[in-house]
Amino acid sequence: MKTNLLGFVLIFFAVFFTHAQQSQDTIVIENVNVVPMTSEIVLYNHRVLISAGKIIKIEPASHPIKNKTTVTIDGTGKYLIPGLSEMHYHYRSDDIQSDFKLLIANGITNVRNMAEFENQDHIAIKRKVSSGELLGPNYFTTGPYLSNDDLQTIDDVVAIVEKHKKRGYDFLKIAASLPQPIYLKLLEECEVNKIPIVGHAQRTLPLEFSLRMKSIEHVEEFLYLSDGTNDTYFKQSESNLQLLAKQLHESGIYIGTTLSVFEFITACLNDEKFTNLQKHDHVKYLAKNQREGFLTEKNDYRKLKNQTFSGFKAPVLFDDYFLWIQKFSKLLSDNHVNLLTGSDTYGMVIVGFSLHREFTLLQRAGMSPYKILLASTVNPSRYLNQYAFEGTITEGKNANMVLLNRNPLDDIENTKSIEMVFLKGKWYDRKVLDKMLEEVQESFK
Ligand SMILES: [Zn+2]
Repeated sequence: MKTNLLGFVLIFFAVFFTHAQQSQDTIVIENVNVVPMTSEIVLYNHRVLISAGKIIKIEPASHPIKNKTTVTIDGTGKYLIPGLSEMHYHYRSDDIQSDFKLLIANGITNVRNMAEFENQDHIAIKRKVSSGELLGPNYFTTGPYLSNDDLQTIDDVVAIVEKHKKRGYDFLKIAASLPQPIYLKLLEECEVNKIPIVGHAQRTLPLEFSLRMKSIEHVEEFLYLSDGTNDTYFKQSESNLQLLAKQLHESGIYIGTTLSVFEFITACLNDEKFTNLQKHDHVKYLAKNQREGFLTEKNDYRKLKNQTFSGFKAPVLFDDYFLWIQKFSKLLSDNHVNLLTGSDTYGMVIVGFSLHREFTLLQRAGMSPYKILLASTVNPSRYLNQYAFEGTITEGKNANMVLLNRNPLDDIENTKSIEMVFLKGKWYDRKVLDKMLEEVQESFK
């Protein structure tokens, strides 16, 4: 009897305290225009209630408020979108907290690291982010950047997949054109062990082999691919490309965009553009250890400037390639291919800011702002098996969101008008975000 009473008292207190805790941090965003990303709509003048990092209610602001709230944020005239996804990030600064600040200040709540370089431990970073020891976006990572040397034999394949499983990487990344038997074994081992293969395509095998991967990480790859009987797609007719885009849609494969990195490469081959990069305001957000290698004549792409490839001067060829990639991105979008926004942070493809550059390039290529946002919210969440709790602004999902001053569906440039970022139950207003950016500058000096 005594124990029962104690039990009852404990339950009472547990319920009481849980309730107290929840009501303590119930945030309301009043009178905001919600871009839920469930379809191309705006829910004007709505109220969004957040508790313990979850969206608990979305209702017209004209309805009487029934919930007890402690914090009210005025959303009048502002637009709320789901947090953005950088699906092709590389860690090069040796200062992960600064990189995370750059990402958060740019409204990025999901990030996928695309290679574990030497002396890095991305599993430890992932663990620290999920425990809260490190303040960062939801973190996903591939294993090491695998090239042909790493995958020479069937035994190599078995050992590498085993290592991925043991370490707990989310993806296996290849940047290798493998002999067919090795590649087939890799596909098989990865499928059995549930580790998706991502990365560069199989440039020496017909296209269909590459479509067995979970995703191809650069639109650029299609420059070098062919169906096995004809020229590479770069040299194919519009009507053949149309058929290719249809095939890509039907295959269900995801494709990372990464136009930004290609733009950077073309700028490295052009004296005037390169000088502009050296003077760019964002150099302050490039870690000091990266500046010499990218912003001086030591830059590897600068060395290609006067070279000729199959009869074409490098700058001319790369400009042609870049135009092709942009046109092809639009074709992919028109054919409803699953795109993922990623910038491939490298050199002046500056962490955080580069995702917005990617958006600009996609919009210039002809993609609508809504389609660009899909590729940065809904598609990545589905792809990462997170769609139950991420990717849209709907009741029950995590409140990882960005408050903008202007409507992103009118012009994708408006995703830069960030007023506030909501991440894992906390929110960061413009003042705090600016402070983060200052801290990064200081740390990268
Ligand atoms: Zn990469």
